[in-house]
Amino acid sequence: MLPDSSFALKPAPLQQLHAELLIAADIELLVRREDLIDAELGGNKWHKLKHNLHAARQQGCHTLLTFGGAYSNHIYATAAAGKRFGFDTIGIIRGEAHAKLNPTLSFARDCGMQLHYLDRDTYREKNSAAVIQQLHELFGDFYLIPEGGNNALAVQGCCEMVRAIDQPFDFICCACGTGATLAGISLGLKPEQQAIGFAVLKGGEFLHHEILRMRALSTEKSRSLWGVETDYHFGGYAKINSELIGFMDFFKNEFSIELDAVYTAKMFYGLFALIKQGRFKPGSRIIALHSGGLQGNAGFKDH
Ligand SMILES: *Cc1c(COP(=O)(O)O)cnc(C)c1O
Repeated sequence: MLPDSSFALKPAPLQQLHAELLIAADIELLVRREDLIDAELGGNKWHKLKHNLHAARQQGCHTLLTFGGAYSNHIYATAAAGKRFGFDTIGIIRGEAHAKLNPTLSFARDCGMQLHYLDRDTYREKNSAAVIQQLHELFGDFYLIPEGGNNALAVQGCCEMVRAIDQPFDFICCACGTGATLAGISLGLKPEQQAIGFAVLKGGEFLHHEILRMRALSTEKSRSLWGVETDYHFGGYAKINSELIGFMDFFKNEFSIELDAVYTAKMFYGLFALIKQGRFKPGSRIIALHSGGLQGNAGFKDH
């Protein structure tokens, strides 16, 4: 059995961005490069997983079972983590099987993940006792990780990710899908620091409630302010347009940072818009979380 420290990856570097906009607004913007901590595991999904791997191992459970869509960064990370740390993995995929696997699922399978498809109606009931019972009948004993990795241990992992930042800052920004990452981040802040999430799906107002719910799963407490920007979804989850693609190109040329189209591109686009609008006091120091997800770009054209 590997020691617990085997679940530690190298710390993420902070990269300062240099741009006219930032000089004009007197803002310091640093990118926390969680995408660089590991070629396969890098990103926020790792921070959601790590305590779950630990718990599975402590329970003597050798199989991880989790859920996701066909392009899921969480499925990808779970498959990679299983291979790296010696767990069998089962991915329960929403929807029909396709004759040819997309790049995400083909990577997962190559890592040894067993793929099992659930029709959309059953998938919606995936957290019900009945569906979980069926999965146990099919697969026996497993450690269950919810969709997106979202549970109390994931919130804890994201909280620790923020506490590991050894530089002072005023704001921290992240992309929000389910809001679990923002919930964890907000709990890791000092009282005078603030967290800003950028919803990547339409109707992101629901996130407020979700984030409160996930913060309540944790024993951590923080009085920091946090909020979610809901105007930068570009039409909905995984929806893109030429403006967003143009922004991704600009970002790569200007800062040598690749963004993913689903999450981090929308966050940075929104953050630059807020800076232009003068939302931040001059002299503010902002950290933006590059939460990874670059694997998704490979399959993006056929979304
Ligand atoms: C999953 C994911 C997010 C969103 O995380 P939530 O906790 O669901 O809000 C952000 N960025 C990337 C790259 C992701 O894969």
